[in-house]
Amino acid sequence: MAGDELRHFCALAGVAGHPEAAYLTYLGLYSLQHRGQEAAGICSADGETTHLYKALGLVNDVFRPERIAGLAGHLAIGHTRYSTTGSPHTANTQPIRSTSRSGSLALAHNGNLTNTPSLRAALEEEGAIFQTTMDTELILHLVARSRAPHLEARIIEALEQVQGAWCLLFVTENALIAARDPLGIRPLCLGRLGSSWLVASETCAFDIVGGRFERDVEPGEMIVIRDGELCSHRLPAAPETHPCIFEFVYFSRPDSRIYGEKVDKVRRGLGRNLAREHPAEADIVIAVPDSSNTAALGYARESGLPFELGLIRNHYVGRTFIQPGPEQRDHDVRVKFNPVGGVLDGKRVVVVDDSIVRGTTSRKLLRLIRAAGAREVHMRVTCPPVAWPCFYGVDIPTRSELIGARLSIEEIRKHIGADSLGYLSLEGMLAAVERPGPMCHACFSGSYPVEPEPELGKDALEGNRGCPP
Ligand code: SF4
Repeated sequence: MAGDELRHFCALAGVAGHPEAAYLTYLGLYSLQHRGQEAAGICSADGETTHLYKALGLVNDVFRPERIAGLAGHLAIGHTRYSTTGSPHTANTQPIRSTSRSGSLALAHNGNLTNTPSLRAALEEEGAIFQTTMDTELILHLVARSRAPHLEARIIEALEQVQGAWCLLFVTENALIAARDPLGIRPLCLGRLGSSWLVASETCAFDIVGGRFERDVEPGEMIVIRDGELCSHRLPAAPETHPCIFEFVYFSRPDSRIYGEKVDKVRRGLGRNLAREHPAEADIVIAVPDSSNTAALGYARESGLPFELGLIRNHYVGRTFIQPGPEQRDHDVRVKFNPVGGVLDGKRVVVVDDSIVRGTTSRKLLRLIRAAGAREVHMRVTCPPVAWPCFYGVDIPTRSELIGARLSIEEIRKHIGADSLGYLSLEGMLAAVERPGPMCHACFSGSYPVEPEPELGKDALEGNRGCPP
């Protein structure tokens, strides 16, 4: 279950042309909390200056009413963070803000750059001093060093030098700028609320403020919103776009729409295709809540088996939960999930999960389900084995920690203690998505749409490139 073994990356939300821009951005971040729980920040602008507040913690803990009141202006950008590059201390929170001859410029970033080492080395060679360990700061340096005549041209010049995955929100004293990398790896959506503009990683951030989805920010597009007017610029196009398929499998909320498709619909399709590929002789279908609920419904409907609530999730387990000692080995999973004995007792159970990363949590969870009386446990996973690291903003462990890179499917079945184990095939996963064109599936296939510089890839791959996944 990815939720316990994978960390999200980051979320972006922004508002232009509204007197309560910071408050609406706060609400947007609130609905995007699932994408990053380590830190949150908002930078607003009132036409003359920018106002920034950010801190470690959940959105609701970071922003009290007096903090929001201090973020004046009709423009705002916000960010929630889980650190995928840079360590989780206050200096690495976002948005980050700089002052140059262009004035004040704040930036929030979702994704990871793949050419950080060479960019950083070149900037350091020229005397640049960095305040953070985040790749995001490099972009502000590149903008500040550009000789182009105006800010938009400087940003475009900077973005032409960075590679990898980057959805960006900038705010100046009087403009909000949104940009998405030419490969379109991470989602970024554009919405409206009356005459105001909204931008966010997922459309659930529009719903919470009563806004409506307008369209995606296109891959390789930079949008400038100033004085209520939107102007679109194009960056050099990539031959093909490669949106992240894991957004559909796990990361995005099922009530969101990304890459032009409803996440709920795709996730039900994953469950349906999984039931076709891996049927099971069983009595009931249960989900590992919450991220697998929708896919389990798809599996149940296709297989004709009843969907039951066999596991209850405790939503209030904080990041500071004290990990148990070895003698209480299942307590960490017990704190998060409680099996419903009356549902499971004596049953042959299909357990639908979104992914298996290290396998540790699956093993403990299946032990709990059996202890609650399940007669048989058939594990079904809505994606192929995760066997490769991600260089585009998702904290997937190194290959030596990924059970899908080390063991065969039969060995994994034995390790987690399932009566049977079925993973959705790569073809079955991609077939659940209607949008035409390729998608990034590198963490399943090892086929990367943009290679990371060797220095970035070395540790994560641990010299294992070329091994079969
Ligand atoms: Fe998404 Fe996996 Fe590609 Fe990363 S490697 S962008 S998680 S599909």
